[in-house]
Amino acid sequence: MTATPTIVPHGRLTELAVQVLVASGAAEADARIVAGHLVDANLAGHDSHGIGMLPQYVRAIRRGLLDPRAHAAVEDRGGPVLSVDGRRGFGQLVGREGIAAGTARAASLGLAAVALRGAFHVGRVGAYAEQAAAAGLVSIHFVNVVGHAPLVAPFRGSDRRLMTNPFCVGVPGPGGRIAVLLDFATSRVALGKVREARARGDRVPDGCIIDHRGRPSTDPGALLDEPKGALLPMGEHKGSGLALVCELLGGAVTGGGILSRVPYQDGMIGNNMLSFLLDPAKLPGGAALAEDVEATVAFLKASPPADAELPVLVAGEPEEASRAARRASGIPVAAGVWEDLVAEGKNVGVDVRP
Ligand code: NAD
Repeated sequence: MTATPTIVPHGRLTELAVQVLVASGAAEADARIVAGHLVDANLAGHDSHGIGMLPQYVRAIRRGLLDPRAHAAVEDRGGPVLSVDGRRGFGQLVGREGIAAGTARAASLGLAAVALRGAFHVGRVGAYAEQAAAAGLVSIHFVNVVGHAPLVAPFRGSDRRLMTNPFCVGVPGPGGRIAVLLDFATSRVALGKVREARARGDRVPDGCIIDHRGRPSTDPGALLDEPKGALLPMGEHKGSGLALVCELLGGAVTGGGILSRVPYQDGMIGNNMLSFLLDPAKLPGGAALAEDVEATVAFLKASPPADAELPVLVAGEPEEASRAARRASGIPVAAGVWEDLVAEGKNVGVDVRP
């Protein structure tokens, strides 16, 4: 039986995260940005990138893998191109600083390319698309992961050669709102989902994992136990190809490093991200963009649902619906995550309670 989650209002969870981060060495203003990002991931329904990451950050600080005082070093490479060294800082902080520099550049040139390298975990990539959309910009983000052993097999492969390399596109709406937010890992499911399935005693859906010999499996043990299998990419050759370009654009082009060359370290979650920011107002479609987005979304959503219980949604809607629900009813923090948070809080002298 799964233990009951602890329900915590998002404001309280943010304050707890700030306290833990400050006690771990972060400046309060920086801690607020990191905590805000983590708790917003929970609000958006992406618990895998929410408060559950905080104990891992505390341990990474202790091991010297994450510098809680680091800020981004932004280097102007000419024209729209910015190279950003994350200096092993909180990805949520240095990523935000890089995108802020990019939005300023796109405000003057209409376009910016922000090549972030050397960040610790950047968290939910959609946060950077939302930041760009708040400045009226379209954005595209390619992310790779380094310092961690691979998890995902390439299409037709039988062992782990890729990570969950996320890809994200944001389209701005009126008033700084994001109208469409496509933000996903390129693996069919996250590792955490397989762990959760095992904890519940369930199998994983077809097409998500293979065993150590490359045979399709629905048994979480085929992935998690020795000899270990691999996660599969989403969309067969298409997802595998998208993961490859995330590896090359996020890792190679930024100079942050590629998975096969960066040594693995226990507790390390390095991210590199190549972001393109575009001001649609510079193009003929800019003036009518909001109207065209609205018309397209309405056209899609008018499709009669194949299952009456499951209407057509567009990317970004599930996150908004989750935010509305969880702002009202609080964030359910899984029992294991809460225990980890209490334990790491204790290690840095913070009494974590709801
Ligand atoms: P997911 O499978 O839940 O897919 C999310 C995307 O699909 C969103 O754009 C969402 O709006 C859209 N979506 C979901 N249901 C939909 C529906 N019914 N109709 C239309 N659109 C729908 O996400 P995921 O792959 O589990 O990724 C979760 C988060 O993890 C993302 O925010 C991602 O950035 C993050 N991530 C980060 C890293 C990292 O290294 N930092 C690695 C992997 C994933």
